[in-house]
Amino acid sequence: MNIITKSLLPNPRTGCSYRVLLFMVILLLPAIGYAQKVVDPELKSPALEQRLDDYLKLPSDADVESKQFLAEIIDDVSEKTPIMTRVRAMSYWAGELSYEEDFEAAYQVLNDLSEPVENSGAIDPQAELLATRVDLLTRQGKRGEAFLLVPKLERLLEQTSSPRIRYYAHNLLASVYTQWERYDTALSNLLSAQQALGEMESTLNTGRRLYLLSQIADIQTRLEQWKSAINTVEENVSTAVAEGFDGIAYNLWFTKYYAQTSSKKYEQSLESLAKAFAIAEKHDFMADQVIILNNFGDAYMKLGQYEKGIAHLQEAKALAKQTDYQEMAATIDFNLGYIAVKQGDSLGIKQMEQMLKKFRETLPDSELEVVLGEMADAYGLVGNYQAQAKLLKERIDLKQELLQQSQSENLATLQAVYKSRDKAQQIDLLEQQNELKEQQIQNNKQKQLIWLLLAIVGLVSIALVVMLYLKSKRANQLLNKANEQLADQSQRDPLTGLWNRRALQEAMQSRSQLQQTSTDGLILLDIDYFKKINDVYGHAIGDTVLKEIARRLQNVCRGSDRLIRWGGEEFLFYVKDIDLEQLQQLAARVLHAVGTDPIKVDKHMIQMTATVGFIQLPFAGVSEEFVDWERTLQIADMALYSGKAHGRNRACGVAGLNVDYETAKHALENDFSEAIEQGWVSIVTIPGPK
Ligand code: GH3
Ligand code: MG
Ligand code: MG
Repeated sequence: MNIITKSLLPNPRTGCSYRVLLFMVILLLPAIGYAQKVVDPELKSPALEQRLDDYLKLPSDADVESKQFLAEIIDDVSEKTPIMTRVRAMSYWAGELSYEEDFEAAYQVLNDLSEPVENSGAIDPQAELLATRVDLLTRQGKRGEAFLLVPKLERLLEQTSSPRIRYYAHNLLASVYTQWERYDTALSNLLSAQQALGEMESTLNTGRRLYLLSQIADIQTRLEQWKSAINTVEENVSTAVAEGFDGIAYNLWFTKYYAQTSSKKYEQSLESLAKAFAIAEKHDFMADQVIILNNFGDAYMKLGQYEKGIAHLQEAKALAKQTDYQEMAATIDFNLGYIAVKQGDSLGIKQMEQMLKKFRETLPDSELEVVLGEMADAYGLVGNYQAQAKLLKERIDLKQELLQQSQSENLATLQAVYKSRDKAQQIDLLEQQNELKEQQIQNNKQKQLIWLLLAIVGLVSIALVVMLYLKSKRANQLLNKANEQLADQSQRDPLTGLWNRRALQEAMQSRSQLQQTSTDGLILLDIDYFKKINDVYGHAIGDTVLKEIARRLQNVCRGSDRLIRWGGEEFLFYVKDIDLEQLQQLAARVLHAVGTDPIKVDKHMIQMTATVGFIQLPFAGVSEEFVDWERTLQIADMALYSGKAHGRNRACGVAGLNVDYETAKHALENDFSEAIEQGWVSIVTIPGPK
């Protein structure tokens, strides 16, 4: 038999020694500084990271020194060390402890980190910590336990940014999946590791790349793709040798040997064994030398070159004794017995049977199954067909049992994995639902906010509109008022503030628009000898006097009366709805208002009088079509003139018409005194104050 299952990790079939393994593990596990994508500078200590990188670069066969080197780094790691660096260093340390089989201490190192890692909330340290745990469990042979942690690790890896950690963890996952015979998934993890490798810049990358390729070659042999496996090795082994990656070169040669012997190319396999042997010899890897020598024996036996086979097996046996590899010694003896049988020596059977007894106790079922096949073959060679049949039956039973075992074991673990994945997915789902709810709440809040804003905008808009409305209303009011004032001013006399002629015209226009016009009164007033005031006191005092008279006249008026400054010192009362008697009384009051009290200007007491002419409108009941207001006022003016002529300070009113208007018309328009003389008009004279 050949030996294919002597290694511990990561490739159980490479048969490499502990130290070769250590070299490989170091390459894989500490996998490896130089993360170029810096995640968060605060999570890392550059100085310590540099020292950890240096640790990785130590020669592969310097295990004692490298542990010491790492121990010094660990001394400088404390609770204050940034979390990523701390996890990296302690993971390496756990790895060192596990090489010495001190798993308890190694797990303790990881357990101590759980809390700070959790508290950091960062993904990368979580991923590295978990990967290291999976690594330890795998190395300890706790496959199921390791496999249960795989889904969580995979989830973390999706978010891990450090390519160093991804490289490490995907490699690890590849070896885990390989153990579970899930070679396609293993392969895809190796590809992910390769991708992570592409993101790193490191002098260690060549070794990493070669390591990945050796893993790929290994999976190819597991998939029984012998040719591909051989190709992969041939394409890369020279680089591995040239770059001094002897551990990897050894694995590559061994993989090639295995592919060749499995495809019955025994002759060619000898060359691969020789290459592997040279490396093992160069590094003094005893166990590997024993394995290779044994496999040489196996190969020569298969080639029928029994003497050469025996020679190699004897050499292997001597070396195994030196190094106390008992299990291997048994295998070698078994092979020697087998060759003896093939050479026709029936004693060989005894030796094989003895070894088989041992193997039944020591070998795992999977390897025992191979041994049973070879033993059965030997029984056939010596003609013991009964024993052969018995062993073949045992072998078949064992194979079935193995198959069932692995199936049920795989199934149970797969179910557990399924459950944990399912749980994780449920948690994801719940988180998503929560997120959705949160989002909905947020949306509702936003909606409410929008409505609130809209309401506010609406209210503000309404307020604005109202304000604008009020403002414009006020503006309109002001405008109206201004317009009114303007209109007013255009009808006011600037000196006295009384109405002007235009105002009278308007008043008369609106009077004529009325259906039924009332009997109104017109009182025309002219101040007596006003020229003298100007002459004596000056024009300014003249103005003051005018204003005072205007004020006094204003006091005489009712609200509905209109007092107009008719000319320079002439005033006109237009009094609505007034009979003759009232009109006379008003005329008398007007005279008194002007003439009773002297007007005081500065030190001067100025005595004034006025002469008034008054008349009713319509005049003497004659239709205004014939005698309009202007003609009526003309008659009043004549009456006033008559008052002046008769001595002033009096009111002279035209009380009525004694003839028809036509008769008096000419006299009324041209010669008022004649109309009086003729007795065509009745005149009322009211004296002014004494
Ligand atoms: P009579 O008694 O005949 O009316 O004599 P009178 O001096 O008042 O004569 P009349 O009515 O013809 O003269 C008006 C004078 O009043 C002429 C002008 O000097 C003066 N007057 C007219 N308007 C104003 C004014 O606004 N301010 C001043 N200070 N004087 C004015
Ligand atoms: Mg006058
Ligand atoms: Mg006058």
